[in-house]
Amino acid sequence: MAEFDLIDLIRARCAIERADVRLGIGDDAAILAPPAGHDLVVSTDTLVEGVHFPASTGARDLGWKALAVNLSDLAAMGATPAWALLALTLPVADRAFVADFADGFAELAAQHRVALVGGDTTSGPLSVTVVVHGFVPPERALRRDGARIGDQVFVTGAIGDAAGGLACLERRHPHLFEVPAEAREALIARLERPTPRVAAGSALRDSATACIDVSDGLLADLGHIAARSGVGIELDAWKLPTSSALLSAFEENERLVLQAGGGDDYELAFTAPLERATTIERDLARLGCGATRIGTVVGGSGVRLLDAKGGEIRLSRRGWNHFA
Ligand code: ADP
Ligand code: MG
Repeated sequence: MAEFDLIDLIRARCAIERADVRLGIGDDAAILAPPAGHDLVVSTDTLVEGVHFPASTGARDLGWKALAVNLSDLAAMGATPAWALLALTLPVADRAFVADFADGFAELAAQHRVALVGGDTTSGPLSVTVVVHGFVPPERALRRDGARIGDQVFVTGAIGDAAGGLACLERRHPHLFEVPAEAREALIARLERPTPRVAAGSALRDSATACIDVSDGLLADLGHIAARSGVGIELDAWKLPTSSALLSAFEENERLVLQAGGGDDYELAFTAPLERATTIERDLARLGCGATRIGTVVGGSGVRLLDAKGGEIRLSRRGWNHFA
């Protein structure tokens, strides 16, 4: 199986027509026509086997996730996705693997009308790099540096499920064997098939002052907003939105570690003025993911997790740090 057969296979499965793609896969480079008067938002993320996904991950889920984590970055900027590039490094030219991978990628790409316009195919240890491009109206992208003292802190969806799913996969606690299969499967699905909050990100362009997607862990990622904005953040631990699957699988302390420290949920964490709260909650409920108020932007620096009496909760593991 030659490299070019694999590329043809990927191209056939990811075919999406877009008028702004002048020239897609097949030449030395793609030719793209960004909409006049918009800002171009660009991001890339790599998934390496054993680091970002367990070797047990199916090819189809991997294809989905490789695009999902990248679309999540565009969502966090409030951008509308348009084009993607895919650099695939494969240990062997496995046609079935590539077909399944491309199907998973294409399934999510179709939902957001993202055209795959190019990439690279090489041999080596399994690794996937995707580049995504999206648009926002001029100077309207959401950033990490706009949070202001007095703003409320929100998160979309529910938090901690992906870390709970990983704990289930790794069979980290003996009691997980007693958790209903349905709950375990729901958590693992959130790890392997995250939903990028693209529509929520666009909707937040009118109200959020700062935004980030939760990839490394809620405290770690909100820490980036705090640092970039020059503020502190206080989170009310008991307000963190929790899925019924996570509730049924973990007791309170374990749950809090997963929710505050675990990564990979790809929810949006953001700040907005209090007077926008009702509109935000209504708009995001309408989009299906919802938003929950979990804290407040304060003076100072760093992120503090508080219990119902206002005491600080200290966690052992603040989120994933690649070089720690
Ligand atoms: P070059 O050698 O000029 O870099 P390649 O032979 O690597 O070109 O790729 C040929 C065409 O196929 C290019 O248009 C490239 O963007 C595209 N391509 C290669 N690998 C992939 C991939 N994994 N996914 C999508 N497009 C790819
Ligand atoms: Mg060339």
